[in-house]
Amino acid sequence: MSKNRIAASYVYTLDAEKPILNGYVEYDDATGEILSVGQCSDTEEVIRGALVPGFVNAHCHVELSHLHKKFRKGTGMAGFIDQINELRDWAGKEVKTSLVRQWMDKMWNDGVSAMADISNDDSSFEVKKDHTMYTRTFLEVFGSEPEMCEGVMAEVKALKEIADAAGIDAAPTPHSCYTMSPQLLSASADAGLSEGWLSYHSQESQEEEDLLLTGSGAMYENRKRSGMSTPPVTGESSLKYFIDRLAAVRPAPYDEHILLVHNVCLSQGDIDAARKVMKNVFWAVCPLSNIFIHDALPPIQLMRDNGLNIMVGTDSLSSNDDLDMVKELICLHENFPQVPMTELLEWACRNGADFLGKGDVLGSLTPGKRPGIVLITGMDDDGCLTADSASKRIV
Ligand SMILES: [Zn+2]
Repeated sequence: MSKNRIAASYVYTLDAEKPILNGYVEYDDATGEILSVGQCSDTEEVIRGALVPGFVNAHCHVELSHLHKKFRKGTGMAGFIDQINELRDWAGKEVKTSLVRQWMDKMWNDGVSAMADISNDDSSFEVKKDHTMYTRTFLEVFGSEPEMCEGVMAEVKALKEIADAAGIDAAPTPHSCYTMSPQLLSASADAGLSEGWLSYHSQESQEEEDLLLTGSGAMYENRKRSGMSTPPVTGESSLKYFIDRLAAVRPAPYDEHILLVHNVCLSQGDIDAARKVMKNVFWAVCPLSNIFIHDALPPIQLMRDNGLNIMVGTDSLSSNDDLDMVKELICLHENFPQVPMTELLEWACRNGADFLGKGDVLGSLTPGKRPGIVLITGMDDDGCLTADSASKRIV
């Protein structure tokens, strides 16, 4: 074992509410295992900045990296879907795979130790299978017509076999209420729950809510124009509809790890309904993606008041200019300055590790864990983020 040591103005272990001022982290150079943390002597030199555990990116579609800088901003959700349909297939598998490698390497170097990633095809598998970053892959399905259900489920089963053969942790997952028939939503959710995990795009836009509440709005018009079936008008939120589709195939409660992604239109009633049946529910926010598509943000204070397990994701390069966790945290810090730095980091590190079932290895600078060690520079005098903050992996 070769023992190494790094010291910085702030060490956010996430085992305490406050950072260690002028702190050090000792680690095993070969394995990255944290050996000890503590406060430096007055004479020890420290790096200006903050040491934090490796990040967990809660939501990405890394296979869409070929869509970087290709989309117009501020189109709303319906306009965004049109752009996806138009541009998604411009690149072949080789180009896609090479961009997946480039962006996963960048994320790793910026300090992302693990990721919950969405895949619709196998173009990211070759990279994921021997990357140092841990990934859990959600094999996402769409299909608006009920008669498509069987065929789509057969396809995703075949994709899971490819993932299994590559040694990638993967399971089917439903995409959203607006791209799926009620049957497919239930069938794919059932398949995901059987594996223990789900990731679902939930309440991303008011257009999505209007589909279920009143059967109207830009998303409704968009679906109708494309000749697609829309979900039934229930008069309830899309999250309550999702809960109904789960109940159609499995009795509540659900002990599996369920990740609801976006939550821009989340209300107190939705939170209560979800928590009543989902015993391990996590809530991902992707602020820069929400701003990119419809200049909106999730109700962070409501989520905090309810003590939700919040996670932070970048979403894909089709709705973001970068895949950079610190940029997401800067956005949250600027819009919700009341959130303490330690809490922001818990969202970006520990909660994601717990969701992935990796809390014993990742998520905090705790002796015995191997979370990765990341240096954030450009901090202010209170150890908080500034517009100039940036991260790089140390270990
Ligand atoms: Zn997404």
